[in-house]
Amino acid sequence: MGRAFVYVILGGGVAAGYAALEFVKKGVSHGELCIISDEPVAPYERPALSKGFLLPEAPARLPSFHTCVGANEERLTPKWYKENGIEMVLGTGVKSADVKRKTLLTTTGETISYKILIVATGARALKLEEFGVSGSDAENVCYLRNIADANRIVNAVQSSPGGNAVVIGVARLFTPKIASYYEEYYNSRGVNFVKGTVLSSFDFDSAGKVTAVNLRDGRKISVDMVVVGIGIRPNTSLFEGQLTLEKGGIKVNGKLQSSNNSVYAVGDVASFPVKAFGETRRLEHVDSARQSARHAVSAIMEPGKTGEFDYLPFFYSRVFTLSWQFYGDNSGEVVYFGDFSSSTFGAYWVSKGHLVGAFLEGGTKEEYEAVAKATRFRPAIEDLAELERQGLTFAVTVSQKQLLSPPPVKVTSTDLLLEKPLYAWHATAGVILAASVAAFAYYYGKKRRRW
Ligand SMILES: Cc1cc2nc3c(=O)[nH]c(=O)nc-3n(C[C@H](O)[C@H](O)[C@H](O)COP(=O)(O)OP(=O)(O)OC[C@H]3O[C@@H](n4cnc5c(N)ncnc54)[C@H](O)[C@@H]3O)c2cc1C
Repeated sequence: MGRAFVYVILGGGVAAGYAALEFVKKGVSHGELCIISDEPVAPYERPALSKGFLLPEAPARLPSFHTCVGANEERLTPKWYKENGIEMVLGTGVKSADVKRKTLLTTTGETISYKILIVATGARALKLEEFGVSGSDAENVCYLRNIADANRIVNAVQSSPGGNAVVIGVARLFTPKIASYYEEYYNSRGVNFVKGTVLSSFDFDSAGKVTAVNLRDGRKISVDMVVVGIGIRPNTSLFEGQLTLEKGGIKVNGKLQSSNNSVYAVGDVASFPVKAFGETRRLEHVDSARQSARHAVSAIMEPGKTGEFDYLPFFYSRVFTLSWQFYGDNSGEVVYFGDFSSSTFGAYWVSKGHLVGAFLEGGTKEEYEAVAKATRFRPAIEDLAELERQGLTFAVTVSQKQLLSPPPVKVTSTDLLLEKPLYAWHATAGVILAASVAAFAYYYGKKRRRW
């Protein structure tokens, strides 16, 4: 037995929610679209799980953060899907896919067929066991990818107030200078970084709870709870051997279409051509999930009107009371601006004589917009010292005048740092920080709630 749909979205996360809204905007008919998700709830803004969801006071709970509130659009509750004739197959995994037959087999044994499939399966958190450490099943060891994980963290925090939390796996944020700013800030909030070593094992009590982490350098840290963030792996396994994969994801073209023209891929699982970099990239950021989903639906519903996906990578985060945004590519020479002892500062990346990336902490809405526009223009930069002197004013001026090529100035500075591209959300095993549970829970994202 099975059902047949014109369009099926496999996965019920951020990209699925934004794709559904776009389908409705583009006039999908009742009964044509189906979403299959192994999560038991309708799509929601996943970043909220590490922010508003963890607040001790008035924490965010569904339905408040269903997509698409993160982009200030309609909040799609289960009722919305019903009213728009979208079939939701929730709490149901897909265990195999046959792209030749255009069918999906669910864990309940149903075969669902499609004319067009959008793969939006996102990624899964890597487990400690994949690095040779056991203990993921202990009740005070937490990961963070879905609501069940977030609830587990909340329970662990509540059952160890004032205790110690150890977070395993933290990526360096962009450059040593930028990273050290955040590190000092974390330190001032009671978070200690233990660097240059890796977790080797846990100690457990008789109930199976972790009581300490043992580090390879011989140190032991007592803990009340552990949060593991050692990276993610895109959920491509259903399509291995059936679709072309690249950079860990499903390779798609500028229409988000895979090597099989009935299958599209969006969000974390898609490797798409990033025009600005002239190469295929797989991004793990909420904005890319939203934009790629919208573009794919547009390409499906209005092929004649839809061009190639032209996306400027953008990501943001908020930690404690801090908030930053990044646009473009962090490769090439770095030019810092602003006062790193104040609340507003940033950096530009200049590659092959052009501005290719920009980071800004503590900006206003207008300043973030200016930085985004300036990065998109890729203005020619000849004098790095002059760029440093102008700082944020440079981006504001470029964006206001909409200059494609602002007046170039001579290069004089050669001693700026050359960085390899680093992606802010790629956590790495090997770095550990310990935090007071109370501070961890209380301050994270408290000031600015935005999905
Ligand atoms: C805690 C957290 C905080 C984050 N914060 C930020 C942030 O501040 N800024 C930022 O830019 N990005 C952030 N991100 C990243 C961002 O959330 C992701 O890039 C985004 O969710 C990707 O959307 P997606 O739809 O591709 O994948 P997801 O949102 O992960 O959705 C994938 C969906 O597919 C389902 N699925 C997978 N396989 C199957 C299957 N076989 N059968 C059925 N269903 C399946 C999953 O259960 C899930 O519902 C954060 C991520 C997390 C986990």
